[in-house]
Amino acid sequence: MSTNTIGVHALVWTGEVDADSLTDAAHRSKEAGYSLLELSLHRIEDMDLPATRAAFDAAEIAVACSRGLTPDADVSSEDSPTVARGEELLRTSVETTAALGGTLFTGALYSAFGKAAGPLTATGRRNAVGALKRLAPYAADLGVTLGLEVCNRYETNVANTAYDALNLVDDIGEDNIMIHLDSYHMNIEEKNLVDPILDVGERLGYVHIGENNRGMLGAGSLDFSSLFWALERIEYRGAITFESFSSAVVSDKLSNDLAIWRSLWDDSDLLARQAHSFVTGYLEAAAGAGA
Ligand code: MN
Repeated sequence: MSTNTIGVHALVWTGEVDADSLTDAAHRSKEAGYSLLELSLHRIEDMDLPATRAAFDAAEIAVACSRGLTPDADVSSEDSPTVARGEELLRTSVETTAALGGTLFTGALYSAFGKAAGPLTATGRRNAVGALKRLAPYAADLGVTLGLEVCNRYETNVANTAYDALNLVDDIGEDNIMIHLDSYHMNIEEKNLVDPILDVGERLGYVHIGENNRGMLGAGSLDFSSLFWALERIEYRGAITFESFSSAVVSDKLSNDLAIWRSLWDDSDLLARQAHSFVTGYLEAAAGAGA
């Protein structure tokens, strides 16, 4: 039996962030077999944190939080006020994660989310490293680990490959920062789905499993046998979270940021149950396969 925690992104269930919608998402996640729900923090101001936390506790489901930054609050900017707003947004997001009972805050924490106008500058990179170096101990005091998700070129210019992320984590030099790989992004940017996982090794702290088109697992082109073999090879025992998006479930801002223009599924419960069994099956196969 797998020892990995298996999670699901809230946008499989709902694009809303009110307590009732998230309570429903927590219960349906649990019913589909998941023990973790990932929540995007793009609308903190619209959330009821105590009620949401109570709902997660009642459903006995863990929470992980994620986000990207915004163009006017971006720690990889060359503009000091923009960097300062980015740092403030990161601190608020860490506080929100802790308030929800979460211990992981991950995503594109190092830059605005969206297509960059040009390559990352040396000053921008220095600003991002400095901001995350200051954020790490602040997060540690609140019991929160930070994840740096490696995202494709249309979403950031800071960390497109595991190699970028390893260099970033080295330069930040803090213990509670780990690397977060996502099969969807890896398929766009990496040479294959194996080497990045072996290279990151024990610094891998979180994994997103998504198809090449972010639809139903197994109904796309990704070589999940290789990916799960690599996870087993490094003895990865952290969380594995299913990400899938369809225009059937819409979030005011997030759906546009993620470029969710078409419907890839319309039955959230079916999708989630199938993905849980898909991930469990691959984990069991990889663990049972031996050398
Ligand atoms: Mn992801």
